[in-house]
Amino acid sequence: MTSKKLTSSAGLTIPKDLRLRLGWKPGMSVDIDPTSDGALIIRAHSPRCRFCGSYENVHKYKDITICTECAKEMKEAI
Ligand SMILES: [Zn+2]
Repeated sequence: MTSKKLTSSAGLTIPKDLRLRLGWKPGMSVDIDPTSDGALIIRAHSPRCRFCGSYENVHKYKDITICTECAKEMKEAI
């Protein structure tokens, strides 16, 4: 475990050894998700469904990312 202080603007620097281990580069995008127990999960950014949050079977339509399942539900609802 590594303890860090947030910067004056509430930013966080990921320790270099962790960045190297994960292959994360400065400037890359990450996804940050709160958990129900007050923690944060930080992952390298990848497209996720705008409606259910799934990372699987995600497609981009115009400016919306949507998974196959939500697209099916939307089609049936319209
Ligand atoms: Zn979805």
